Amino acid sequence: MRRSVILTAGNGCFVACPGCYNHFARNLIDTETILRFIGRLRSDLGVRKITVGGGDPLTRPDIVTLLKGLRALGLRIQLDTVGTAFLGDARIRFMGSGTARRVDAAHVAGDVDLIGIPIDGADDESIRAFRRFGSVADQLACLSLLEAVGARVGINTVVHRRNADGLTRIADKLADYSCIRQWQLFQFMPSGPLGSRNRHEFEIGADDFTRATDGVKIRLPGVSVSIKSNTVRKNGYLLIDGGGTVWTPRQDSKVDWNASDETAERVIHGHITDEMLIQRLRCC
Ligand code: SF4
Repeated sequence: MRRSVILTAGNGCFVACPGCYNHFARNLIDTETILRFIGRLRSDLGVRKITVGGGDPLTRPDIVTLLKGLRALGLRIQLDTVGTAFLGDARIRFMGSGTARRVDAAHVAGDVDLIGIPIDGADDESIRAFRRFGSVADQLACLSLLEAVGARVGINTVVHRRNADGLTRIADKLADYSCIRQWQLFQFMPSGPLGSRNRHEFEIGADDFTRATDGVKIRLPGVSVSIKSNTVRKNGYLLIDGGGTVWTPRQDSKVDWNASDETAERVIHGHITDEMLIQRLRCC
């Protein structure tokens, strides 16, 4: 398996991104079924690492049990979360409703290799340009909490046309936290139902992305900084939605990212309860 595996652990989210790349399911498949399938990805296809995301994974009521189960399979785990429910009970504002109970960050930190936290701006205006309801105060409070419990943290920044000139200011804020091991800067990818529909608000060309990210590496010595263009990420992911459907974004076989990749469509490979699915994924 050459693609990175991303598991949607929770359907709802604490923020609402108009550029969200995700396809959301209506149901949430049980943890035992997920673990059985991921165990086969590990044993039959040699998958060694999984990213647990969402929606937001902290909206899943048994997220701690799921993480422990994945750990028991011997996987390296990255947990990508906005982090709101680390700070206290948190309102689900997107693709769901209600309240997610607080998740003990200390509990989670020991079961995962890296906790990915999104920071897309150095002020509320630029954060909310992409993640409605997010705030600098919440994101920095998350970092302080994770630092206090000894977590290893990665920062995920979606670079788009409205925050591209503010990356050095983000770097200056991150410099205060020794828990940060990695900073990934992603060129906004106009895919999925929302991301492709709202692409004109966020789209940034490859040259502008390169210009915007040029020089950020030297601002954070000691942190592994990865600059990820859409061409680099194209055909790079295998996703499992909250209901257990396995899919990939519909992207063509050309090396470079191009206009035909900007689509709401996805390719569905099957459901995780399908015994033959592993065979079909061998070529992925
Ligand atoms: S892109 Fe935004 S709305 Fe979509 S799952 Fe991630 S944080 Fe939530």
